[in-house]
Amino acid sequence: MLRLRNELTREVEDVPVRDGVVRMYSCGPTVYRPQHIGNMRSFLLPDLIARTLRVHGVEVRRLMNITDVGHMTDELSEAGRDKMLLAADDEGLTTQGIAEKYTQLFLDHTDAINIVRADLYPKATEHIAQIIEVVTKLIERGHAYEIEGSIYYDVTTFPAYGALSGQSLDAMRAAHRLDAVDPRKRNHQDFVLWVHAGPRRELVYGSPWGPGYPGWHIECSAMSLHHFGERFEIHTGGIDNRFPHHEDEIAQSEGAVGHRVVDMWVYGEHLLMGSAKMAKSAGNVVTIGTLIERGYDPLAFRYLCFNGRYRRQVDFTDDALDSAATTLRRLRERIAMLGPPSTTVNETYDNRFMAAVDDDLDLPAAVKVLHEALSDESVPPSERSALVARWDAILGLDLAPDASLDDELTSLIAEREEARRAKDFARADAIRDRLRERGIELLDSGQGTTWVRR
Ligand code: AMP
Ligand code: ZN
Repeated sequence: MLRLRNELTREVEDVPVRDGVVRMYSCGPTVYRPQHIGNMRSFLLPDLIARTLRVHGVEVRRLMNITDVGHMTDELSEAGRDKMLLAADDEGLTTQGIAEKYTQLFLDHTDAINIVRADLYPKATEHIAQIIEVVTKLIERGHAYEIEGSIYYDVTTFPAYGALSGQSLDAMRAAHRLDAVDPRKRNHQDFVLWVHAGPRRELVYGSPWGPGYPGWHIECSAMSLHHFGERFEIHTGGIDNRFPHHEDEIAQSEGAVGHRVVDMWVYGEHLLMGSAKMAKSAGNVVTIGTLIERGYDPLAFRYLCFNGRYRRQVDFTDDALDSAATTLRRLRERIAMLGPPSTTVNETYDNRFMAAVDDDLDLPAAVKVLHEALSDESVPPSERSALVARWDAILGLDLAPDASLDDELTSLIAEREEARRAKDFARADAIRDRLRERGIELLDSGQGTTWVRR
C-alpha cells in the first residue's frame, strides 16, 4: 500500500482508506494569471497519489479549489486590492472573464502534462453561502469575533494552533511586524475570516455582518466540508501552504465541527530556478505554454519532476529539461521496438517498481527500475512491454504512444518524417496541417519530432 509522509505526525504512514475510498482535497490555482511550472509541480503530487492508489484498486475522489476571490495585494489594510480586480483592469475583462480565462489555461496546462483531472473544481465565488455558514458557526462556538463588519478568528481558542507547522504562538508573535497589525485584534496572530468592504471595494457579497468578502483561508474549509463532509483522508498543497493557510484551515474546520477533519497532510517541495523558488514576484517563471512554444514535449517537464522526490526541491534548468526530453524520446523509441505487450507481468520487476512508488512516492527509484527492466535481455520483450504499459498508469509519460494514437495517425506521422527526410517540405507541411485538424500538434526540434494533443 502507498505510504506517505504525514506532516501532522511527521511520520511516513499508510494512506488511510475509509470504506474503500480515499477523499483528497488539494489547494488549487489562483486564477488571475497563468500558473507557472512550479505551481504545476505541486499539482503533480495529488495526481501521482491518485494514480498510485487507483493501481492499488482504491477509489479516489479528488477536489481542487479554484481561488477566484480574496487574494489581496495587501492582506492587512483596506488599501489592498483584490488581484482579480487588478487583472480585470489590466486586461479589460470582467473578473469573471479573468477567472474563466485563467481557469481554462490552467486546465490546458495540467492536461498537457497528463495530470488526471479532479472530480470537481469548486470555485470560491460559488461558495459564499457555505463560507458564511462556517463563519457563523465559528462565532457561535466562541472561536471568532466581529470588529466593525470584519470577522476574526481568535487563535487562543484553538489550542492546537501551530501544531501542523511546529510553531508556538509566542514564536509567531515575534515574527509579526507589529506596526502592520490591526490594533483592534485580540491577538496578533488572529486572522481574518470575513473582511468588511470599504466604499471603494468591488466584488462585494452580502452577509449577516454587512457587505464584505471572504478571507483567503476560509474558502478551503467551506468547500472541503461542503463537498466531502466532516471527515476526509488527504489534503495536499505546496509547502508554502502549510503556514498560515493550512494552519488556519485546521483551526476553522475543526473549530466549526468540533473534531478532527483531515487525517493526512502531504506537501510538495518547491521547484527552483536559478537556485530560488520559482515565483511570479521573483520574475523567474516559465509556463507549460513557454515550453511548448520552445518546441518541447510538455511531458519532458513531467519526467524532469521525477529527478527528485516530491519532498525535495528540484532545480529547473535548460540542461535538465534537455536531458529529460532526450531521455524520454529514447525511452519511447526503445519501447516502440519491444512490440505488443504480453498478458503476463514480470512480478519481480513489478514488485520492485511498486515498492519504490509505495515508499513515499520514490519516483527517482521507480524510474531507475524502469530503465533497468528495459535493458534486461533475460526478460522477453513482450513482458517488458507489459511492464511499461502497467507502470505508465502511474508515470503518465505516454511511454507507449501507439496506445494513445490510432494507426492512421501513427502512419501519418511516419509519412511526414519520410517527406521531411526527402526534403519534400510542401508535403510535410500538408500532413502537419492534417494532423493539426485531428488535434495533434507536431513538435520539431534539434532532437527530432514528438507530438502533443492540443
Ligand atoms: P497560487 O496560485 O499562487 O495559489 O499557487 C498554487 C500552488 O502552487 C500552491 O499550492 C503553491 O504552494 C504552489 N507553488 C507556488 N510556487 C511554487 C513553486 N515554485 N514550486 C512548487 N509549488 C509552488
Ligand atoms: Zn487551500
